[in-house]
Amino acid sequence: MTIIENTNLCNGCHACYSICPDDAIAMKENSEGFLFPNINCGKCDECGLCKKTCPMNKTQIERTGESKLPRTFAVTHKNEEILLNSSSGGAFTLFAEQVINEGGVVFGARFNENWEIIHDYAETLEGLAAFRRSKYIQSRIGDVYKQVKNFLTETNRNRKVLFVGSPCQIGGLKSYLQKDYENLICADFICAKMPSPKVWRKYIEYHEKKQGSKITRIAQRVKKNHRWAPFYVLISFADGRQRYILNNFDLFKGSWHDNLFLRKSCHNCGFKTANRNSDITFADFWGIQDIAPEAYDSRGTSLVSVHSSEGQKFFDLVKYGAKFLEVNSEETFRHHRRRNALFSQTMSERRTAFMEDIDRLPFDKLIKKYVKISFIRKVYRNVKVVLFGIR
Ligand SMILES: Cc1cc2nc3c(=O)[nH]c(=O)nc-3n(C[C@H](O)[C@H](O)[C@H](O)COP(=O)(O)OP(=O)(O)OC[C@H]3O[C@@H](n4cnc5c(N)ncnc54)[C@H](O)[C@@H]3O)c2cc1C
Repeated sequence: MTIIENTNLCNGCHACYSICPDDAIAMKENSEGFLFPNINCGKCDECGLCKKTCPMNKTQIERTGESKLPRTFAVTHKNEEILLNSSSGGAFTLFAEQVINEGGVVFGARFNENWEIIHDYAETLEGLAAFRRSKYIQSRIGDVYKQVKNFLTETNRNRKVLFVGSPCQIGGLKSYLQKDYENLICADFICAKMPSPKVWRKYIEYHEKKQGSKITRIAQRVKKNHRWAPFYVLISFADGRQRYILNNFDLFKGSWHDNLFLRKSCHNCGFKTANRNSDITFADFWGIQDIAPEAYDSRGTSLVSVHSSEGQKFFDLVKYGAKFLEVNSEETFRHHRRRNALFSQTMSERRTAFMEDIDRLPFDKLIKKYVKISFIRKVYRNVKVVLFGIR
């Protein structure tokens, strides 16, 4: 029994694992560090539900809806503390706060105590802090889709649920649920790509060994000096030391552009379009200066795209908590900074060799061997960001 003909298209969304009535599917890590479904033939009664539920076995229109341009808004949260602790304009928190204030539940991605990225839920405003800021590693869904369903169907409670995840995770959740729920709001983000959790683990080990101390905090989108760009990676250690690393100079984030350790499905993503199956899409509004300079905020601006009438109603309810402006959708999606919404990543020709060396070389040697960006280019990139605010 195979769930998907071409396993390179499997994005690890967990829909098959979650739907299986026999508990016959386990999500197992492959040698590259990505989770894939593994069927226990002894438990499987070949009902075929997993195959039917896999979003990649559906047509593009079933996965993402019709190809049309959504309404788009530039958004900056009015609360400065929240804004400075968010990746861009704090749009996520704007929506999440409303859900919590209505007694609802918010699902998102956070670090666990081992610095792995997992999906989880929060029922308090304080609980939202762990979800803020992008984590550039594929999160583990685990049993979260089942938890979403439990909250949606909790008798007599009618609790609102906001689920935030990558476009493929939204595809997985919707496919698992099999029907619409009026108390569910789904939000995804423009997702460039998902790097390997194994490479991330090696990065954590590398820093802890080098420092001789455990990491106590890590954040990949830090606005040092209250500025959105350039952004920094912050690592705090148990010995009290802190390191701010410019994004382009960080060994993990700096090699992001090289496409060496992405999930294979990110090179052929089934969710690349302006329109989505979600209600709302969040993104960094890079290039806002070119489209609507009056909405630019040096502390960060989010792009919010609205795909459904529920999404629009929700946005209308929360928008006064932010500085917002409707912007031209065509211009927004024509801008070169929106390429990641529309096109998959090209695979590096060095990817195979990188993955063959993944267990052979320590993290720093692995990166130095395969990442070809010269020091001069990195300096140039940062000078561009610092002097001209161009990313
Ligand atoms: C892997 C990744 C790639 C991205 N690529 C792009 C891009 O190419 N272009 C672009 O414009 N924007 C991209 N984004 C989105 C962008 O970084 C911000 O999420 C967006 O600007 C919203 O900012 P905010 O201030 O509202 O969000 P924040 O307050 O920072 O909230 C972030 C939200 O994203 C969720 N989240 C964080 N990390 C993950 C993860 N690994 N998996 C699932 N959910 C997660 C959190 O739960 C939270 O709900 C990417 C995000 C991620 C995680």
